[in-house]
Amino acid sequence: MKHYHRMSVLIVAFLAATTLSMSVKAAEPLQVVVSIPPQIYVVQQLGGERVHVISMVPEGGLPHTYEPTPQQMKQLSMADIYVRIGVEFEQAWWDKMSAANPRMHVIDSTKGVNFIEASEHHHEDEGETHEAEGDQHENGEAHEHHGRDPHIWVSPRLVKIQVENIYQGLIAVDPAHQSAYSANKKALLTALDNLDADIQTQLANLKTRKFMIFHPAWAYFARDYHLEEIPVEIEGKEPSAREMAELMKLADQEQVRVIFVQPQTSRRSVDTIAKQIGARVEVLDPLAANWLDNMRYVSRVLAETLSE
Ligand code: ZN
Repeated sequence: MKHYHRMSVLIVAFLAATTLSMSVKAAEPLQVVVSIPPQIYVVQQLGGERVHVISMVPEGGLPHTYEPTPQQMKQLSMADIYVRIGVEFEQAWWDKMSAANPRMHVIDSTKGVNFIEASEHHHEDEGETHEAEGDQHENGEAHEHHGRDPHIWVSPRLVKIQVENIYQGLIAVDPAHQSAYSANKKALLTALDNLDADIQTQLANLKTRKFMIFHPAWAYFARDYHLEEIPVEIEGKEPSAREMAELMKLADQEQVRVIFVQPQTSRRSVDTIAKQIGARVEVLDPLAANWLDNMRYVSRVLAETLSE
């Protein structure tokens, strides 16, 4: 009896050890690496407890000038999935990043996104309607122009496209949990539709639809809700003295009361212009990790500001 007991304990222990090693592996969350903090929200909502998400660009970092650290390259080497969104460093560093982890599954979350070409930012023609641009359909070809605007995470409508791409990647890597991902996706798409509808309502009746901002990170938001950014930064640089004079004239003409900055960039030229024209400076963060709350905050601030 004692022998039997010991034997069965051993067998049970052996079986438990085997199934444990398997089930631990299956229960361990997928290590997902994204490029920028706002992507964390989307992947987390979709993946729930099945994912552990980290961002290459830390909170407060600026993707345009970011370079991965050796520690981050090491974290990358342990990732199961990388979700690309098309920010600059992905282009510049991709050979090194994929060499650091040739086995990770790469999701291109930009597939199907109707990008704005950077040249469209610099149209002098103020009569142009942005509605027409928004109605153009993506032809299915991947745009590889260097001049395209990378800030596609500030549009709830474009985030819906990213959600679909990320969902497809998750079920490819982890098909066993497809039903959970599918339920999460459904809930997330509903939240995005609600957000989109709320922003539309909030920004329906404004005194002006133009807003001045240092770094023009909100072009896709502006396209969706028929707003217009007036960038202070010229092609990624502080404006020259001559350009500053033009901006002040324009700000005066447009009766600009508020100029926006983001926490990660310089506000020197904005402070100068604001002082000159008697406007105030407010902060909008396009890179916040608490994406949904931040989008609601941005919409509320714009609604208030552009109704003054
Ligand atoms: Zn930017």
